[in-house]
Amino acid sequence: KVRTRFAPSPTGYMHVGNLRTALYTWLIARNAGGTFILRIEDTDQGRLVEGATDVIYRTLAECGLDHDEGPDVGGPVAPYIQSQRRDTYGKYARLLAEKGHAYYCFCEKCESEEDSGDFARAADPCRDLPLEEALARVEAGEPYVIRQKIPQEGSTTFHDAIFGDITVENKTLDDQVLLKRDGLPTYNFANVIDDHLMGITHVVRGSEYLSSAPKYDLLYRAFGWDVPVYVHCSPVMRDAQNKMSKRHGDPSYEDLRAQGFLTEAILNYVALLGWSPRGDIAEQEVFSLQELAKAFDLAGMSKSPAIFDIEKLTHFNAIYLRAMAPEAFADVARPYIRQAVQREDISADDIAALLQARCEKLTDIPEKVDFFQALPEYDAELFTNKKSKTNAEVSKAMLEAAIPMLRQLPDWTQDAIHDGLVELAAKLEVKNATLMWPVRIAAAGKAVTPGGAVEICRILGREETLKRLELGLE
Ligand code: GLU
Repeated sequence: KVRTRFAPSPTGYMHVGNLRTALYTWLIARNAGGTFILRIEDTDQGRLVEGATDVIYRTLAECGLDHDEGPDVGGPVAPYIQSQRRDTYGKYARLLAEKGHAYYCFCEKCESEEDSGDFARAADPCRDLPLEEALARVEAGEPYVIRQKIPQEGSTTFHDAIFGDITVENKTLDDQVLLKRDGLPTYNFANVIDDHLMGITHVVRGSEYLSSAPKYDLLYRAFGWDVPVYVHCSPVMRDAQNKMSKRHGDPSYEDLRAQGFLTEAILNYVALLGWSPRGDIAEQEVFSLQELAKAFDLAGMSKSPAIFDIEKLTHFNAIYLRAMAPEAFADVARPYIRQAVQREDISADDIAALLQARCEKLTDIPEKVDFFQALPEYDAELFTNKKSKTNAEVSKAMLEAAIPMLRQLPDWTQDAIHDGLVELAAKLEVKNATLMWPVRIAAAGKAVTPGGAVEICRILGREETLKRLELGLE
């Protein structure tokens, strides 16, 4: 039975790459009817960030990546927070030393290099210390670390579902520290112990861990445990050379949300960064989470790095915005509309209806609709337009004719305004556009608007429309 885990370190934000790992991990579990587990990897206490786990819970919940087991929901292999599992790791490190696959190391040097990999194994006098002797020194209270005893000879081959078989010479691997002087595990060790104890069948993670994978593999084998399926995901890049990084200003999931992208669009786009549908859905681009869960397969995953393209994401976002039910769109658009339009006599929902087909991201909304709040200052040049055959003089005549007609219109509805303007154009023997253009310019004060003259006047209301049209005469 498939069991996967998302094992974030609480950094305080969700990288696009992390989100994609979470998504793939969830998809593998859901596709197989398996179990998706959340484990918090907080062994590096020095890097803890206040509120960082909340970001993880919030993001997973918002994205619909529900976990079956985890710190908040519990489960059969609790606890799911590494800092609460401390006692477990020492036991396994000592067990490994007994089996001869790890050793106690008392070197001074370890102090500063606890976590670093470049401690030369060959030079370590503790490596071949008899266990009895080492245990006696431990007993006597001498500080120590426990290191993995990597074979001096030979090579290690492990299999990755995406990258295939990878072989490394053992002499290139370092005797990494498993247990630090303070008795806490190193990240790499805790990860292996927990994956085993939690019955993880598929380890999905970023390919930056590929270089540590042989050491993980040797640990599993040293314990005599089943090696999980490794699924290392190619990196998400900013450009051909650089990985995306928060430090260099690349957006995290929260940043993207704040920039007006919908969660569904982000997930859909991110899913396709590193995975492609095959067979009769090879051309499909838009996937709901449920569809992804059905279609996802390891064989569709790519080895090559994927470049994050904000334009492409914007394209997905526009698709998702357009596909929303009008009321749902109004709900997400309303706060953005109200940023620009606070007037209570103007309905945000009416504006939302105009916007839905013309909006790529929510944060574009305020500047698209600000003219509803107040007529911007505009250049009289705008009245001149070749296509609608207008210039300053024609526009003036059109507005002079439109104002009394609109003032007397029995109803202020979409149809009434439309029919009134169309009839007037006929009476004046001009194209509709010749009348509509100046009306819209005078009503909105800008050349590009969501909606045409009729919709804009309707939403502004009769009084405001007439006021603006009269200003247009000046
Ligand atoms: N805690 C690691 C990280 O946040 C994940 C490593 C793994 O999934 O094995 O990068």
